[in-house]
Amino acid sequence: MLVYNDQYHKKQELETIEPGKIRMYVCGPTVYDQIHIGNARTFLSFDVIRRYLVHKGYEVTFAQNLTDVDDKIINRANEQGRTAAEVAEEYSQAFIEQMRRFNILDPDIRPRATAEIEAMQEMISSLIEQGSAYVVGGDVYFSVRDCKTYGIVSGRDVDQLMVGARIEENEDKRDPLDFALWKAAKPGEPSWESPWGPGRPGWHTECCAMIHRYLGCPIDIHGGGSDLSFPHHENEAAQASCAWHEPLANIWMHTGMLQVSGDKMSKSLGNFHTLKEVLDRYPANAVRLLMLQTHYRSPLDFSFERLDGVAGTLERLEGSVTNLRWAASHASGAGDDDALDAAVATARAEFAEAMDDDFNTAGGLAAIFGLMTAANTYLDDAGADASAAACTAAADALVELAGVLGIMLGEAAGEALPEELVGLAAEHAGYAGDSAAEAAEALLAARQEARAEKDWARADAIRDAIAALGLAIEDTAAGARLKAKEQ
Ligand SMILES: [Zn+2]
Repeated sequence: MLVYNDQYHKKQELETIEPGKIRMYVCGPTVYDQIHIGNARTFLSFDVIRRYLVHKGYEVTFAQNLTDVDDKIINRANEQGRTAAEVAEEYSQAFIEQMRRFNILDPDIRPRATAEIEAMQEMISSLIEQGSAYVVGGDVYFSVRDCKTYGIVSGRDVDQLMVGARIEENEDKRDPLDFALWKAAKPGEPSWESPWGPGRPGWHTECCAMIHRYLGCPIDIHGGGSDLSFPHHENEAAQASCAWHEPLANIWMHTGMLQVSGDKMSKSLGNFHTLKEVLDRYPANAVRLLMLQTHYRSPLDFSFERLDGVAGTLERLEGSVTNLRWAASHASGAGDDDALDAAVATARAEFAEAMDDDFNTAGGLAAIFGLMTAANTYLDDAGADASAAACTAAADALVELAGVLGIMLGEAAGEALPEELVGLAAEHAGYAGDSAAEAAEALLAARQEARAEKDWARADAIRDAIAALGLAIEDTAAGARLKAKEQ
């Protein structure tokens, strides 16, 4: 399969360091606020990349840090009269909660910067010993010009970078390009003891030390938003190169930026949206579907109008799975299955082909929707004679392929019939078991019987009791069934 390596600006055949295994790292958030949907797009992209690699059979180890000490956290804490640790803890939990709501898989390893100070200090000491870093006052800086490989990740030339570079006031670096590995503590800031005096690590130092500690260098894939390519990833790679004489990663992957209705998202434009705000209004499946219609490297245009459109598409997809499952358990099965079997095989092949081409999720979705259309046509044509095996295979394929994209359909979404149906069926249909699905069948059969006997009062009572549980009765070619009522 082909993966775009941003370091070389081209797609390359995926070759792993260890056969069948992939170690990947994606820079996590600085936890001072709810994350915005631009960050969410990056984390979603790498969630799908990870899911697809696992689907392909790779054993993936995925690490993502939490930057829980940073100027932004300290500023927020000062504004709110709290400690930086309190702010970081609140937004670490908020981040984890929103990631789970968005159906993003937890990382295998989630190191926190404040718990990794020792590993960072070891790396800094090694850089100083090797002449790649120097101490000024209580600060430690990385000497960019002494790093032979500087510029390899972002393709920048050190002399070009000098143009526009400047030394901020109160900085004592030797060269404007140098960056802080360790920052001396200012009054009131969180700090840790170190050989260079009390202070805290620089942001670029964190990821590098954690990758080395938890995954080992080089890793297979390092990811983040395209705004992290320079200077963050460049500085991470420079430290690894000078500390351990190893590349940090073999493949660098960066996600495109997100725009809102064609504009850059910003608080001043009033189009700034947090993931929480969007997930409070729309299901995770819909937000994922919208974002995955655009390739992860391309700019993504987000809008609530597009999201409304996607919600309808998603409903049709969910309906298709429901209809296939229903047909599988209720149709006679006498019909031909060739057309649907062929559509399943085509969808699987097209999905793999698209995703093998640098995770082309738009192509993957097109394969899923192609199968949906073919399945709907098949069900219309076959009616009550649909083949159970073919319907089951098609429903399984839709659920599985959508699941690789983290879009959970049908049973995978955990949509079960309410347990209260068992009690209703006992009351109205003499049902004595304890299965909600059987209870639903018993209630529908009882209602059918009542209607056949023109016992409208009983038929209506059953319908009303079912409606009280938020369910509606839908009549189909193969008989009646229960479904959730439209909101
Ligand atoms: Zn990072």
